[in-house]
Amino acid sequence: ACTADGVAEAVRGAAAIVADHRVELIDLDRAIGDADHGENLNRGFTAVVAALDEAVPGTPGGVLKTVATTLISKVGGAAGPLYGTAFLRASTTLGDRAELDAEAVVLALRAGLEGVRARGKAETGDATMVDAFTPAVAAAEEKAAAGGDVAAVLLAAADAADVGAESTVDMVARKGRASYLGERSVGHLDPGARSTALLLRAFAEAAR
Ligand code: ADP
Ligand code: MG
Ligand code: MG
Repeated sequence: ACTADGVAEAVRGAAAIVADHRVELIDLDRAIGDADHGENLNRGFTAVVAALDEAVPGTPGGVLKTVATTLISKVGGAAGPLYGTAFLRASTTLGDRAELDAEAVVLALRAGLEGVRARGKAETGDATMVDAFTPAVAAAEEKAAAGGDVAAVLLAAADAADVGAESTVDMVARKGRASYLGERSVGHLDPGARSTALLLRAFAEAAR
């Protein structure tokens, strides 16, 4: 169930996926950035798990707030503040509700995306995490409107994020370090788009 404990388990699953894909994310970032994305995220999520080992907050929103504040304090670079903002906005949107239904998950995803967009000012087509996150939220909204439960909504989001992340291969990067390469960024998968897809896949797996 999508209680605080369930969300904490999902976050632990996300941390495990980040650890499993650490080298892949480093390699993607080496091609068009500074080769630290996998290390940044792994450091952040390792600290998140340590914080949850200390105490699991009483609500889903509280758990997401712990994720947010930990990522903001432990992860440098572009992705730390961006993911931190996403989790913080999601947390705030959920308030003190004790359990999440499909509608709440959609609200949290939408708030997270709006946080990333507000913070990073990237649009779709700029070859960033926004290119994975935007279609994911649209697919989640569609699935929820069709009566999908939490698991179905997150699965739809993860599947759409995979496609969205792949679409960054053909794009010229216009935000972040990869934008320094201009046209030479074409042909590369954006590391942040890939990590967004991985995080959403982890949440979908946890909700199954
Ligand atoms: P840094 O580039 O500072 O080393 P990371 O390597 O951790 O940070 O993260 C890079 C990722 O951050 C990129 O692949 C991209 O998806 C994302 N990113 C960078 N700038 C922006 C932005 N302005 N808006 C949205 N996402 C961004
Ligand atoms: Mg980097
Ligand atoms: Mg860096």
